[in-house]
Amino acid sequence: MENPAKNLWPALKGSLAKVYKPCIRKNCALCERGDKHPAWILTVSQKGHRRCFYVPEELVPIIQLAIQNGRKIEEWLGNAGPEIIKAFRHQRDNADNKKKRAAKS
Ligand SMILES: [Zn+2]
Repeated sequence: MENPAKNLWPALKGSLAKVYKPCIRKNCALCERGDKHPAWILTVSQKGHRRCFYVPEELVPIIQLAIQNGRKIEEWLGNAGPEIIKAFRHQRDNADNKKKRAAKS
């Protein structure tokens, strides 16, 4: 089994959301218009606790890529159990066949 994780870094598990927040400035044109200020929030679960982090705009594409990579790794991990069992059986059956052949000759 090839380890895909080396090509899937950075990776993370969480969800990214764009929110619009008002600021503390007085007479802010954006806030008065109701547009407010966009901000990116990453929500993750750490040891069962939900935590939120502000994500700087420049980092958003990397976070989005990391989330995609995280999903791919999770999918791969889901397949890993059956793959390991299959590989074990295959190896064991090959060994059994060799023993049988050795016994016959
Ligand atoms: Zn504002």
